[in-house]
Amino acid sequence: MAKEKSTNPTALRCPTCRTLVLRDDDNFPFCSDRCRIIDLGKWASGAYRISSPILDPEVLDGLDDMHRSGHSSGDDE
Ligand SMILES: [Zn+2]
Repeated sequence: MAKEKSTNPTALRCPTCRTLVLRDDDNFPFCSDRCRIIDLGKWASGAYRISSPILDPEVLDGLDDMHRSGHSSGDDE
């Protein structure tokens, strides 16, 4: 048997209420059935819109520019 790497998190935070949830919890990664339903409800009600402005080429271009002309040189104070 290969040695198992312990890179897997043993616990995560509930996406809904940020409570720490152990991996072997029934509702993982949610802390409770209620939180899971709340999260599903968000998706269903469109709280998580699938609009992707970040994929706009112009936006990406701008970001790239910001990084390139960034503060790596340290010329100014
Ligand atoms: Zn929760």
